[in-house]
Amino acid sequence: MKNKKIAYLQCVTCKKQYQADEIKYTCSVCGPVHGTLDVIYDYRYVKKHLTKEHLHKSGEYSHWRYLPLLPVFDEQLIQPLKVGWTPLYHHKRINSKLKLPLLFLKDDSGNVTASYKDRASSVAIVKALEEKYEGIGAASSGNAGASIAAFAASAGLPCYIFVPETIPEPKLAQLQAYGAQTMLVKGTYDEAFDLCMKECAKNNWFNRNTAINPYLAEGKKTGALEICEQLNWDVPDLVFVPVGDGCILSGIWKGFKDLNEIGFIDRFPQLIGVQAEGSAPLVEAYQKGLHEACEKNVSTIADSICVGYPRDQVKALRAIHQSGGIFISVSDESIVASIRFLAENSGIFVEPAAAAAFAGMQLMLENEKIKSSQKIVVMLTGSGLKDIRSIL
Ligand SMILES: *Cc1c(COP(=O)(O)O)cnc(C)c1O
Ligand SMILES: [Zn+2]
Repeated sequence: MKNKKIAYLQCVTCKKQYQADEIKYTCSVCGPVHGTLDVIYDYRYVKKHLTKEHLHKSGEYSHWRYLPLLPVFDEQLIQPLKVGWTPLYHHKRINSKLKLPLLFLKDDSGNVTASYKDRASSVAIVKALEEKYEGIGAASSGNAGASIAAFAASAGLPCYIFVPETIPEPKLAQLQAYGAQTMLVKGTYDEAFDLCMKECAKNNWFNRNTAINPYLAEGKKTGALEICEQLNWDVPDLVFVPVGDGCILSGIWKGFKDLNEIGFIDRFPQLIGVQAEGSAPLVEAYQKGLHEACEKNVSTIADSICVGYPRDQVKALRAIHQSGGIFISVSDESIVASIRFLAENSGIFVEPAAAAAFAGMQLMLENEKIKSSQKIVVMLTGSGLKDIRSIL
């Protein structure tokens, strides 16, 4: 399909450029993991069609308000489900408890399937329909699967989800309700991922796997666009992001970079990538100064970030380095404590992976690495109702 928006797709490692219609997933030279692609727009085109004035007058209260900066060619294929334009809470009670007057909470539990993944799935379904696929496959710890299952149901496309059999029940319930063909894998998320890759290729399903499909990061960047707009085009000093595969982190970084390309912002936040102690291959790679992560055996109560071999590691490490941020890890105990602290003091109930980002912020606060004058955003990426085991 012809388009004016996208200039080219570019490999993160060898920098080779591709036209949008000449490649689907990863760089043909570098392959998966090292050959993830960035979607580069024709920013002159974007600037003409997306202005602060347009946004100010926009009645589109979803992430589709940024349509000129999203890789969608046929708007008719957008599903009517709620995604994005989620609250950025400036919560007095929790801020005064923490003595952080400029703390903001980006709460994505209000998306249609109650996690940040809907931002990516809403874009993925359009690409699958534009390219006339007859099925979609995804590997997931639960949220990505539940999310694409909802969008596939909305569009009437069959959907095949590979999840570890340890998936929390509420996420499994979502998959069943949406009628997804669910494969419960006796193994880890990483094993489910490899299996899904094979099945997508064999059956010619559209592949919604993270860090394989370049358009997912475009959906995941919209949190950053919203944060800046909601701060009246100011830029936070620090943004805390929970990290499994690293796709939310790298997506958010792309969002800030795109805003800078079109002249909406003139500085960048430092990104803080937060992993669980029992699943921290990116923290280790960062601390050792490596540009890639080693595969690990992992375990944490935060199932959404329990990832032994982060698939978007190259972009995630790049995002931390370019933004001057850091990777840190938090214990499972501190994650549970943060779920409670946040819920009791703000009324926001999040799942363990989201609480990890908050716990990371609290850890840096305790260690006096945060100043009360700093503008801080914590990404709350999923609802507490998605995994109730740890709080019960
Ligand atoms: C998927 C997910 C994450 C981690 O995102 P990655 O792109 O894998 O790093 C964090 N929180 C929640 C709730 C998620 O579903
Ligand atoms: Zn390459």
